[in-house]
Amino acid sequence: MKAPAFAYARPRTLDEAFALLEKHGADARILAGGQSLVPMLNLRLAAPSILIDITSLEGLSGISVSGERLTIGALTTHREIERSADVARHCPLLTQAAPHIAHVAIRNSGTLGGSIALADPAAEWPACCLALDASFTLASRQGTRKVKARDFFKGLYATALGPAELVTNVEFPLLPKHRSVFLELSRRRGDYAIVGVAAVARVDAGKVHDLRLAYLGGGDVPKLALHAMKAAEGCAPVETLAAELARDLSPLADLENKPDTKLHLANVLTRRALAALAA
Ligand SMILES: Cc1cc2nc3c(=O)[nH]c(=O)nc-3n(C[C@H](O)[C@H](O)[C@H](O)COP(=O)(O)OP(=O)(O)OC[C@H]3O[C@@H](n4cnc5c(N)ncnc54)[C@H](O)[C@@H]3O)c2cc1C
Repeated sequence: MKAPAFAYARPRTLDEAFALLEKHGADARILAGGQSLVPMLNLRLAAPSILIDITSLEGLSGISVSGERLTIGALTTHREIERSADVARHCPLLTQAAPHIAHVAIRNSGTLGGSIALADPAAEWPACCLALDASFTLASRQGTRKVKARDFFKGLYATALGPAELVTNVEFPLLPKHRSVFLELSRRRGDYAIVGVAAVARVDAGKVHDLRLAYLGGGDVPKLALHAMKAAEGCAPVETLAAELARDLSPLADLENKPDTKLHLANVLTRRALAALAA
């Protein structure tokens, strides 16, 4: 199918982008890497009257480390994150997760900001942001605000992003004493995950502390498993893990998998992740 007709604008400055967003409101869609939006247009799942292409805006891409945080601009591509030495050193969870996102051709264009704004519950970056307690900078003509990942994802493809706001960057606190593990199951390499887990913890004598478990494919939003995290804190192994995960996750059925199957797979992945963290 072909996309419906739309107007196209390529602002040169953030102020121009804000003005366009305010003028067109809900009729406008931001275009970043286009790896989700263009298929949605072609399938007629979206029909904006205007696309606002933000790829020429300066200052929205790149990776930097300063003080106690690593900052990644919204227009930074999945592939740039995957290949960054700074990311590998300071946020290895992202390096572990990146190869699971689609295929290289898609990772060359798709952006961190686009993935966060889209908020697909089966996407890798939103779950990693939850596990790492990341904050998103949202900007509009009224100024900027920071929103924690745990407060950003509101429902299926729904976020705290206002209609005239852009994601400009993502900040990750540095966790030098933590280990991380990312695991997911998909039918084929490059497919969206059936279910996956991003796990971060300090490890002492084979026991995990300060554990964060975030799931993709675990419900209508990326989810932190608060009950399972509490049950596994300072323990090895965790007898009640399956029961606690069932309290935390509510996976949606897909064409091949029932919610119970996904819950079982989440339990298996979590046990593997905890074992890998403690190894
Ligand atoms: C075949 C295929 C397989 C894929 N598999 C995976 C996968 O396994 N895992 C995965 O995570 N993703 C997958 N994707 C999606 C891909 O990762 C996209 O790159 C990503 O979801 C969106 O990033 P984008 O830059 O392409 O955004 P776009 O497609 O340009 O935009 C996506 C949405 O976000 C909005 N948006 C974009 N940037 C901003 C911003 N800075 N501020 C506010 N709103 C913004 C747009 O308006 C739009 O609504 C796949 C895509 C394809 C085509």
